[in-house]
Amino acid sequence: MNAEIIAVGSELLLGQIANTNAKFISSQLSELGINVYFHTVVGDNGGRLKEAIKIAEERADLIIFSGGLGPTKDDLTKETIAAHLEVPLVFDQIALTYIEEFFSKRGRTMTENNKKQALVLEGCKVLANHNGMAPGMLLEKNDRTYILLPGPPKEIEPMFQFEAKPLLAKKVSGEMIVSHVLRFYGIGEAELEVQIQDILDNQTNPTVAPLASDGEVTLRITAKAQTEHEAWKLIYAKKAEIQAIVGKYQYGVDDDSLTSKTVEMLLHNKLTISAAESLTAGLFQSELAEVPRVSAALVGGFVTYTEQAKVNQLDISQELLDQHGVVSSECAGAMAANARKIMGTDIGIGLTGAAGPDPHDGQPAGTIWIGFAIGDDEPVTRKLELSGMRNTNRLRAVKYACSYLMR
Ligand code: ATP
Ligand code: MG
Repeated sequence: MNAEIIAVGSELLLGQIANTNAKFISSQLSELGINVYFHTVVGDNGGRLKEAIKIAEERADLIIFSGGLGPTKDDLTKETIAAHLEVPLVFDQIALTYIEEFFSKRGRTMTENNKKQALVLEGCKVLANHNGMAPGMLLEKNDRTYILLPGPPKEIEPMFQFEAKPLLAKKVSGEMIVSHVLRFYGIGEAELEVQIQDILDNQTNPTVAPLASDGEVTLRITAKAQTEHEAWKLIYAKKAEIQAIVGKYQYGVDDDSLTSKTVEMLLHNKLTISAAESLTAGLFQSELAEVPRVSAALVGGFVTYTEQAKVNQLDISQELLDQHGVVSSECAGAMAANARKIMGTDIGIGLTGAAGPDPHDGQPAGTIWIGFAIGDDEPVTRKLELSGMRNTNRLRAVKYACSYLMR
């Protein structure tokens, strides 16, 4: 089976938005082993959309449309496809009720053009939209499969994953396909691959695919079986095999992030945290603050970029800085300990270093010291020697701090 994705929307052609829907759907289809041969983008124009459909029909047996299912005049995807395939549009009662309820709950009356969103291609499988009003559709016609999906990413992504993907999986293999991602930190992609070489060399079902980005490595385990339950059993067996070898580097699964897991750990243990940040200038706290409910753990902290700021705000002695420099174990430890003391938290973090591209305080770019003051113990410090760009180094420092806290 090979596929073409047709993204509909003049704003894509005008360069106002990027075609992230095509990227998302392509990556999903590749998981199913479906080849995507073409991405097409066409404006909100019935005539040109029809041309695009005809071309796609020459070269693809699965055609996936994104966008143009909404209530306005420029939303004409399904009308154009209906006319082209000579399939009438009929009201879907479930979608109509959903839209009516949407309006009545908000004390508004539904206009005729909103009702239009409940029109679907006759004979299609309706794909529920739990994040918007317009349902999607999957239609089999003339040995081809047409899938119509809405434009907004927050609608198309869950609709594809939970409504369309299982139907396609069943279609391509007659089997269920399930995947599960294991997330690692503190081990490089090459090293991880060496350690699990046997598993990678002998994979059939489940398959195991490594991917590295932003200093993290993930392994995607994908299993096929007659039932979802069977597929999960295969995944859990493979996961156990992998964890027996590199489990100590694993910090999470699927949509977890280092920061979300760190916050989870802090909340679970009822621990509070503060930070004194030099090279990261608040990035550590900002990243933690992206996680909901962090306010029960993150008390606050300091951005102390210069020596003077470290002395004035953190009460670090000028003598210490003169003797050891700001990019030093001593400075990182003092930053962590003093942040903890001043803010009255269980944990204090100190981040200092040469972000790059230039050396700083006699230390080469990428030299970073991180201090961890935990309870009344003497602070512990760790040195990183990174070789990335400035902002990559800053983010790595934050990630390292999180990974250390989770040990
Ligand atoms: P709506 O009901 O919101 O009008 P729709 O199904 O009619 O949804 P469009 O009107 O085509 O979809 O697009 C709505 C919004 O979705 C766009 O303004 C844009 O922000 C986003 N969007 C549309 N197509 C894409 C795409 N290919 N990639 C990323 N975002 C997109
Ligand atoms: Mg629209």
